[in-house]
Amino acid sequence: MTTPTGTLPGFVNAHTHVYSALAPFGIPAPTPAPENFMQILERLWWRLDRALDERAMRASARLYAAQSLLFGTTTLIDHQESPAFIDGSLDVLADACQEFGIRAVLTYGATDRNGGIAEGRRGLAECRRFIRENKRPLVRGLVGLHASFTCSDETVRESGDMARELGSAVHVHVGEDHSDVEDARRRGFEGPLERLLALNALPPGSIMAHGVFLNPAQVRMAETKGVWLVQNPRSNEGNRVGYSSCLWASSKVGLGTDGWEADMPKEASALERLSAGYPQEEVAAAKRRLENGRKLAAERFADAPAGLGLEGDTVVYAAGEPNTPPVVERVRVAGKVVVESGKLVNGDIDELRAKAREEAQVLWPKMIALKG
Ligand SMILES: [Zn+2]
Repeated sequence: MTTPTGTLPGFVNAHTHVYSALAPFGIPAPTPAPENFMQILERLWWRLDRALDERAMRASARLYAAQSLLFGTTTLIDHQESPAFIDGSLDVLADACQEFGIRAVLTYGATDRNGGIAEGRRGLAECRRFIRENKRPLVRGLVGLHASFTCSDETVRESGDMARELGSAVHVHVGEDHSDVEDARRRGFEGPLERLLALNALPPGSIMAHGVFLNPAQVRMAETKGVWLVQNPRSNEGNRVGYSSCLWASSKVGLGTDGWEADMPKEASALERLSAGYPQEEVAAAKRRLENGRKLAAERFADAPAGLGLEGDTVVYAAGEPNTPPVVERVRVAGKVVVESGKLVNGDIDELRAKAREEAQVLWPKMIALKG
């Protein structure tokens, strides 16, 4: 992407994990070194999510929300996973977002991975509670599943039923790695998309992160069903799962960072680099994904009263030092200034970083102590 200048609509990070914001403060390297995607999950991210408690989550969410605004990102579409801290976890995230003035669409990614169907039900119950109770003007809820391969048929089916009952949709990882496809096939389905559709878990407006292992017909099918896909190019590259080369087949594809910092121009640059060399239809479609994320967010905030919609979300760039790119000068969310002269209006980024560093040092020993 060319360097942004002037005034732009605020950026939307269409799939992320606020819970990973402490990782840059020295997260312990997984041992032995992972050789594939499943091992990266088991030895790194699933250990981190099991170690998370309320304190760590608060420090993580506050830092991520604040940093995102400084990048000009005005909406986060988040997917939370914290098996030891499920009940109330979405309130911690929502309070952090509301505190600094960033818009957010939050969900808990229910899974049966650690505690069977009972764990899945607790995750879904947190989504239900939050969707019903949340009154924060900048925050919305969704029903969430971690991924097809970590959920039973019961949990998958219940997520769709709940979403329809609440007038909501489902946010889930789909086809991030081939292991998700293999799992769905073992269960008798053609793939994870077919499984989620067969179990009625993708009401219109649902969000599927990744789709690396979907073919053009499946991507088209998602579009027909009114289901969004979100590409996360830096994360896919880091996890060595490949480039999602068939997403051109749908116009409903946004851009996310999957837990990496919410610097959307940087993510868009990575997308431009990684899409180069693919057929022209993919290169052209990739250029629209950042803008598509705004359409996705607009769907979730379609009920916002006048003055609180996405039209009030802007980022203003100012000239940087000589020979440096323009910098984020001012950010508005719902018409309210939340970054002025490149600084947070409602907080101090240095204090938030110091707090995050402190909490990270408490979290890492807990993470290392976890077996499995
Ligand atoms: Zn993700």
